Amino acid sequence: MTIHQTFTTHQNFIGGEWRGTAESLAVLNPSDGQEMARIARGGAAEIDAAVAAGQAALDGAWGRLDAVSRGRLLLRLADLIRRDAETLARMESEDVGKPLTLARNDAQVCARYFEYYGGAADKVHGDTIPFQDGFTVMTVWEPHGVVGVIVPWNYPLQMTGRSVAPALAMGNAVVLKPAEDTSLTALHLARLAQEAGFPPGSLNVVTGLGEEAGAALAAHAGIAHVSFTGSPEVGTLIQAAAARNTIPVTLELGGKSPQVVFADADLDDAAATIVRGITQNAGQTCSAGSRVLVEAPVYDSFTADLARRFEALKVGAGSQDLDLGPVVNAQQKRRIEGYLALAGRDGPRILAQGALGTNLPEAGYYVRPTLIGDVGPDHRLAQEEIFGPVLVAIRVRDEAEALRIANNTQYGLVAGVWTRDIGKAMRLARGIRSGQVFINNYGAGGGVELPFGGVKRSGHGREKGFEALYGFGALKTIAIKHGA
Ligand code: NAD
Repeated sequence: MTIHQTFTTHQNFIGGEWRGTAESLAVLNPSDGQEMARIARGGAAEIDAAVAAGQAALDGAWGRLDAVSRGRLLLRLADLIRRDAETLARMESEDVGKPLTLARNDAQVCARYFEYYGGAADKVHGDTIPFQDGFTVMTVWEPHGVVGVIVPWNYPLQMTGRSVAPALAMGNAVVLKPAEDTSLTALHLARLAQEAGFPPGSLNVVTGLGEEAGAALAAHAGIAHVSFTGSPEVGTLIQAAAARNTIPVTLELGGKSPQVVFADADLDDAAATIVRGITQNAGQTCSAGSRVLVEAPVYDSFTADLARRFEALKVGAGSQDLDLGPVVNAQQKRRIEGYLALAGRDGPRILAQGALGTNLPEAGYYVRPTLIGDVGPDHRLAQEEIFGPVLVAIRVRDEAEALRIANNTQYGLVAGVWTRDIGKAMRLARGIRSGQVFINNYGAGGGVELPFGGVKRSGHGREKGFEALYGFGALKTIAIKHGA
């Protein structure tokens, strides 16, 4: 029996009530392709109702709560997420196909977002500004209003916590649209928010297709901000929709992040971290280091080490808790296999694959983790986000070429630099155009305290850390003339 059979057809959460829709959508288990639950197929009508509920909350109990009380509610929700962490982790593992260990971490990180922003809610303050005699000028932070949050399917718990927690901490009402493949944990979070005592309408969840519920939310005249995490293609549509209502957006989009490895680095640590980074969550991580740029003297030995590590990777159902589960759906599997077919044609060649000799179930959406060598920096494999467990290796002559190739994509999300030379590390860190650079590590353990976001086609605006709160707020200036 799956964990979902107790509540097979899920409803939307609007204005503190559970409401069904005429039509529902199947939720498939990526490990075997079987239907495991159904979700409501929300559309324009449900989005209308959710935005109205959000506005009513702002005009009522939620809008009247002070920052200290909002913070306490978030902290209570963090506790409830920790109480239900195992339920949430199993749900997420089954829904996304990810190994349980990873899903357990996702549940803890989600709780940590509510804890961090619960603690921060009453610490967002403005300034007083020296001005002409006879005036006192101050700034105050206020919520935008009703905000739309649209999240992808790769880390549903983490992405939801990352956007929803700061939005609520700042006093916004939220309409959340989870990805259609993976809505189950968002609905459980809504149940927990209800239990924590969040006033009706402060958090609303509408499930459904991107082009229906998602598009209706992004275009709704009643929302004051959209926070979108997903593909660059849809991010462009979101920004265009928001432009028609002249509202701000935060876009967290894709990446083709470089891992730059110099000959003097701790190569063992670099290899282990790089393989884990691109294969974790079956490579479906926006920040994954998907291009490894290796300095020529160690290119052959380093890629041989990477190859050995790829060959040792174990692939299986999420519940088996191996290195990799399946990818999220059949379309994603076909996409990744299309990229693998490019190797061997005009230069790039497959150096290693994991799980060879293992019979992966035909019905599940499994992909063998793959290392591809001899990839030219302009090749499609080095330019396009594959969003699967595929690492491409590129040989670089020196620091100057490493920097040029690191910057030679339309993306700018994350970069890793591996060297013992602090000067070289810092020159690269400052020269690479990306939202974050990690030196001799990758991701700093994913700490929620660290501002995160992209430049170029990876998006704009910052989530995580204190910075995210400002994105979910509007700064108001108040000038008082009282006389000298
Ligand atoms: P996606 O853009 O297809 O979908 C993301 C969300 O947008 C889903 O909820 C979907 O239903 C919704 N959506 C789809 N079409 C829409 C439309 N026309 N209008 C409004 N909403 C719509 O992305 P995905 O395939 O779910 O996720 C993969 C992408 O997300 C990758 O590019 C990845 O790099 C990126 N991503 C980025 C980050 C980050 O923090 N930068 C994090 C995770 C994923």
